[in-house]
Amino acid sequence: MNEGLGRHRTLERQLRRLGLAPDTPPDLGGWARFLDRVSASYRASEDDRYTLERSIEISSDEMRALHDVLSRQARHDTLTGLPNRAALVELLRAALDESRLIGSDVAVLFIDLDGFKMVNDSLGHPVGDELLIRVAERIQATIRGRDVVARLGGDEFVVILRDVDGFATATATAERIVDQLGRPFRMGGNNTAISASIGIALANADALSVDDLLRRADMAMYEAKAGGRSQYTIFNDDVSDRLDGRLATINALRDVVEANQLVMHYQPIMRIADRTVTGVEALVRWQRPGHGLLAADSFIPIAEESHVITAIDAWAVKRACEEFTASKYRELTLSVNLSARDLQHSGIVDTVSNALQSTGLRPDQLVMELTETTLAADNATTAANLGRLRALGVRLAIDDFGTGYSSLSYLRQIPAQSLKIDRSFVSALDVDESSVAIVGAVVGMGHALGMQVIAEGVENAAQLERLAALECDQVQGYLVARPQPLRELTESWSAVPVAVRSTNWTSS
Ligand code: C2E
Ligand code: MG
Ligand code: MG
Repeated sequence: MNEGLGRHRTLERQLRRLGLAPDTPPDLGGWARFLDRVSASYRASEDDRYTLERSIEISSDEMRALHDVLSRQARHDTLTGLPNRAALVELLRAALDESRLIGSDVAVLFIDLDGFKMVNDSLGHPVGDELLIRVAERIQATIRGRDVVARLGGDEFVVILRDVDGFATATATAERIVDQLGRPFRMGGNNTAISASIGIALANADALSVDDLLRRADMAMYEAKAGGRSQYTIFNDDVSDRLDGRLATINALRDVVEANQLVMHYQPIMRIADRTVTGVEALVRWQRPGHGLLAADSFIPIAEESHVITAIDAWAVKRACEEFTASKYRELTLSVNLSARDLQHSGIVDTVSNALQSTGLRPDQLVMELTETTLAADNATTAANLGRLRALGVRLAIDDFGTGYSSLSYLRQIPAQSLKIDRSFVSALDVDESSVAIVGAVVGMGHALGMQVIAEGVENAAQLERLAALECDQVQGYLVARPQPLRELTESWSAVPVAVRSTNWTSS
């Protein structure tokens, strides 16, 4: 034990005797907060001793030790021991000052882990903490002696590369980090896989502030994530433009419901066996001023990052039920998409229940589509709200199946009546033989669990034929009809070629 820490312990003992110490030391965070309070209340007295409000005496040595502890804690992340955000800002400021003097560049790597939340949620926080420590070690091992790695919090780290010349060192370092963090971590006897997305920003001739530099690296990181993760992106003007666009979208989305800018389109779902349309899926569209009619893909993922999504979905449920029951399709089924965030509040259950009541739609005609990750979430609130939705009598569908993390075996735990195979597998059906095997296995598993299997994104007759041969039940896609206002749906599906269930075609 070093001397400072020894004094710290002495001090802790003294404080504890006086009933002033926190109940739960060695929790360093709590201890630091406590010391903060203590140090704020001391008064220096003449004989170089400090008297606390509640009359404890502390020698100046002890006070210094206390100060050391405080300032160390103020500058370090207690989990990994790395410099924290406050220290990073100071270090970066110093690096920028230095670079101006010697005329070199400073690069910043903004690192965000991919899939960390999943590990933390599914394996528990102690495992998550252990993983962060190991990540910190791996990053440290890939950088040069004069470089610094700091932890910003959560699963975010920043590396400062001093005295570099252009992007070469930064990209080489980023490549090594992506490679190192992409290798499995052996945790408690299991291999745990995560990866890292990195944004790089460079301060050269332009006098950037610490904040600007970090913000640019953060923006570039965001692009790396959006571009598919486990990669790095360099900040440039394109990144900046795209992110400005994103911010504008976030702002414009705030009052999209009140401003009456949403409209609903519907896409039919067709049974393969007899080319009968059994229902429609409601897909929201945004009539955005100056941008035309936007498909859900271009704004729902952004809306999902904020509470806007719950307002959009409440609108979607109500509007879809109203339009559907007023249409000639009212005896079919209506599918509506929900987001993970919706299930975090019981409000969605009321929304659905009110919509059923006011429109007279039978609960078993309404299908709530949820992505598999939402359904797999090991979250008590989500589970409770799913249970309440089920209790209303509405049906559940697993959307985009195959894109989440889940294994086929976990399907049995989910109270869903149908399974929608993601478009990426369907579009690969006529080019990639392995997707034939995958789709076949998913259909078999779905049927074994008593689910209807629906293929999404079916665009041509060849795909339809293969799906029929694989015994998929229903299809949805441009081949049948594009999403459009309910009133404009024409019975174009009568022209869809009849797919024969059993063909000579095999998957071998
Ligand atoms: P999804 O539920 O899987 O919907 C299918 C998406 O594929 C739709 O995109 C649809 O327009 C598109 N699509 C359908 N057939 C084809 C095809 O043959 N080829 C191709 N390339 N695409 C096809 P959209 O409307 O942009 O919606 C994207 C996603 O946004 C939806 O995926 C759904 O997850 C989400 N979404 C849509 N409306 C809502 C909503 O009201 N609330 C929520 N929370 N999410 C919604
Ligand atoms: Mg859907
Ligand atoms: Mg889908």
